[in-house]
Amino acid sequence: MEMTFLDKVVLVTGSGRGIGRTIAESFAERGASVVLSDYNSESLANAKQVFQEKNYRFLALPCDVTQEDQVNRLIEQIVSTYDHLDIVINNAGITRDTLLMRMKTEQWDAVINTNLKGVFLVTKAVSKQLIKQRLGKIINVSSVIGIIGNTGQSNYAASKAGVIGFTKSVARELASRNVTVNAIAPGYIATEMTHVLDEKAKEVLLTAIPLKRAGNSQDVANVALFLASPFADYITGQVIRVDGGMVM
Ligand code: NDP
Repeated sequence: MEMTFLDKVVLVTGSGRGIGRTIAESFAERGASVVLSDYNSESLANAKQVFQEKNYRFLALPCDVTQEDQVNRLIEQIVSTYDHLDIVINNAGITRDTLLMRMKTEQWDAVINTNLKGVFLVTKAVSKQLIKQRLGKIINVSSVIGIIGNTGQSNYAASKAGVIGFTKSVARELASRNVTVNAIAPGYIATEMTHVLDEKAKEVLLTAIPLKRAGNSQDVANVALFLASPFADYITGQVIRVDGGMVM
């Protein structure tokens, strides 16, 4: 299935590295104008260099998705540069894993603010433009942990379950304006976020995956491409798992 995104403007939050970066590259390779955005200036600079070398069409704009003023400024800059915004991937996310009894309020707040409030702020800021255009696709990166829960990840699971409820509600609100809103729920994907897991935890995860391998960022990016393409025009409010069969 070959897809092109010529003339499309795509925003990917947290695209300095990991899944977001691969999603951003996948759209850029297919002709889109990509807005790289991250609050980590080093990652953003690395991504920017690669995009320059590959002659992709892009803008690199720093933004912390937890900060409403930064988010609003980001969207204003995109719209004033391109005059439109077609595809929004809410990808920025963090973990602060620990058991509930040991969890500090700051660990709870950091995860909820980034993974859930960040999605709310970006979606709210872009929705005016997408409604005006009567066209748009919003894709939120959730997690299978938001569906099944996980020991040591109550903050993360709550944030990712929240993203699923948010996705379905906004899908209903924006459907009449031809804006679709879907979520991707990855399982265990090999990135720097999961690199920190100890070998035993990785082994346990692998035994729970029928396809017997960790996913990679491209596995997730492929679904983002599909959901952003006209092939998915009749799909909204859905959660697509990309987990090698871990949850079924
Ligand atoms: P990474 O940590 O590799 O990349 C996430 C990027 O987002 C980093 O550059 C990070 O910066 C940035 N970021 C963090 N907080 C903010 C913020 N407030 N504003 C802007 N950028 C921010 O993670 P992954 O690529 O693995 O994960 C991407 C998404 O996929 C996340 O939402 C994650 O929860 C989700 N996911 C990942 C899975 C996996 O197995 N890897 C499984 C299921 C879901 P910094 O490096 O400074 O933190």
